[in-house]
Amino acid sequence: MDVSKIKLVAFDLDGTITQHKVPLEEKNRAVLDALGKKYKLLMAGAGACQRIFLQMGKYPIDILGSYGMQYAEYNKDTGELDVKYLKSFPCDHESVERRAMIFREKYGYTDFAGDSVQYFDTGGITLAILGTAAQLPEKLAFDPTREKRRRALAYVRELFPDFKVFVGGTSSFDMAPAPYDKYYALDKYCREHGYAHDEVVFVGDDWGEGGNDSPVYESDIAFIKVDNYENFGECVKILL
Ligand SMILES: [Mg+2]
Repeated sequence: MDVSKIKLVAFDLDGTITQHKVPLEEKNRAVLDALGKKYKLLMAGAGACQRIFLQMGKYPIDILGSYGMQYAEYNKDTGELDVKYLKSFPCDHESVERRAMIFREKYGYTDFAGDSVQYFDTGGITLAILGTAAQLPEKLAFDPTREKRRRALAYVRELFPDFKVFVGGTSSFDMAPAPYDKYYALDKYCREHGYAHDEVVFVGDDWGEGGNDSPVYESDIAFIKVDNYENFGECVKILL
């Protein structure tokens, strides 16, 4: 990365600038403020724009949400988001349930609590291996190294070619309707807003195999790895 060329800094939220689903803290807010004086800032998250915005305490930033299916810009007059687009795609539940069961039978996950799959308004889904009603301790103990899900990842991707499949949360596969992923979202944003890829850097924590930041990490866009959101300031020091 040639830092002197960078104009746009894009961020993941959970695990990168906050703890998972926890409000943005003062320390990392100050880091964003410092970066914002030098660069255009952009969030590129897996969650919905509004959820990201609220988790960030209405921080003034434009947001690509739901892997780029949503985009909203901060309005400094109202202090709220102006939604630019919210896409949603039809989802054939019957086909998804059938394929989820093929996966379960192959890997021996036919016992699950609640529903097999969670459906979102966007058309995205979460295949909850232990079921949507599984208890947190059980979920945390299921696959802490992600090995189980990484082993099954290629198979799940083959079963769900109509989705982008990620190893998500503690015990699930998160899927966005293809071609939506963070790289697709960021590349589209660059084309629409006049940035070349070498003017952009992405900051994220989930760059490993199957991680939801991995499409950006594996691309031509520069990537800064954050190992822990508490070290976010240290990790982006090179930009300041
Ligand atoms: Mg993350």
